[in-house]
Amino acid sequence: MAYQLNEKIRDLVPYEPISGEYRIRLDANESFLEIPGYVKEDMLARIAKLHLNRYPDPLASGVCEGFGKYFGVSPDLLTVGNGSDELLTLLTQVMMMKGETLVTTTPDFSMYGCYGYLAENHCLAFPKRSDYTVDVDALIAFVNQKKARMLIFSNPCNPTGVGLLREEVLRLVEDVPECLVVADEAYMEFWDQSVMDCVEQYDNLMVLKTCSKSFRMAGVRCGIAVANRRITNALRAAKSPYNVNSMTQAAAETLFDYPRDLDSATAKVIASRDELYASVKALADQYPDKLSLLPTAANFVYIQMPDGEAKRVFEAMKEEGVVVRLMGDHLRITCGTEQENAEVLRLLEANV
Ligand SMILES: *Cc1c(COP(=O)(O)O)cnc(C)c1O
Repeated sequence: MAYQLNEKIRDLVPYEPISGEYRIRLDANESFLEIPGYVKEDMLARIAKLHLNRYPDPLASGVCEGFGKYFGVSPDLLTVGNGSDELLTLLTQVMMMKGETLVTTTPDFSMYGCYGYLAENHCLAFPKRSDYTVDVDALIAFVNQKKARMLIFSNPCNPTGVGLLREEVLRLVEDVPECLVVADEAYMEFWDQSVMDCVEQYDNLMVLKTCSKSFRMAGVRCGIAVANRRITNALRAAKSPYNVNSMTQAAAETLFDYPRDLDSATAKVIASRDELYASVKALADQYPDKLSLLPTAANFVYIQMPDGEAKRVFEAMKEEGVVVRLMGDHLRITCGTEQENAEVLRLLEANV
């Protein structure tokens, strides 16, 4: 018999972001800001000096130093990955034995379940309430009852924009002592409830960070796991040694040398998010039976529409060269420049 693909990958299709030329792209939660020219020049100068014939630093020490300084965490609590997607893949493979239970919540970032499935985790999704909040007591009971080995959720959540308060996350960590809790804080720059400073106080807490959102480096691929020394040492030992290339390391090191630029980029995105939320909310108040949305702690809004309407509005916007993310009966719209936000609002108004 000829070679057969195994059943877990046989029917997979590659992830396909919306391709083509669009005037305005607000579909992937990237930053609408470019890294300023003077920072880019510094990056390129450092990249020019690299010995590209040599393998990179396996621990990406410079990135750990820079990140650690910016966030006030010790560099030896950090593991750097080729985007946090690589770290998620790694976690489902190495923190889990085949068939062990991974709990995710729903709705949440869909990649958690995909990687868990490929790593042959037993994946269970815990449903959120209809307002997208989490019943923490019920989640604690669920995790313990299912003897879950790992729980992953994004905070604030992608796609809902809803956040879980820091004290609630810590209560969760404390009450599921046999389960590793992974809080994916990809959007925490836009909120203020991080638990990153607590990783050393717990046996079972990890925080994931990425340079793809408020740090404007989605194209560079750099993610960071923050955890206590025991977990960090295990993760560093289990990862592939040269997972983060030297150009990415140089770019991220440079970025963290300009902390005020990082702060101001974050502040601009928060201002844009607030503006987008306020204008869409005003529209929702005007047409309560056409669209609804909740306050958001991230850099996007998540808009619910009646049956089929989200798809219709999505297509109408696309016709006009504006892409957002269609998710069932929701549109997830990343905040953009003032003009981009205004254009989105104009198209929403014209199509509701
Ligand atoms: C965007 C995003 C990431 C970042 O992934 P990278 O691979 O670092 O670009 C991780 N988690 C969530 C929830 C995200 O939305």
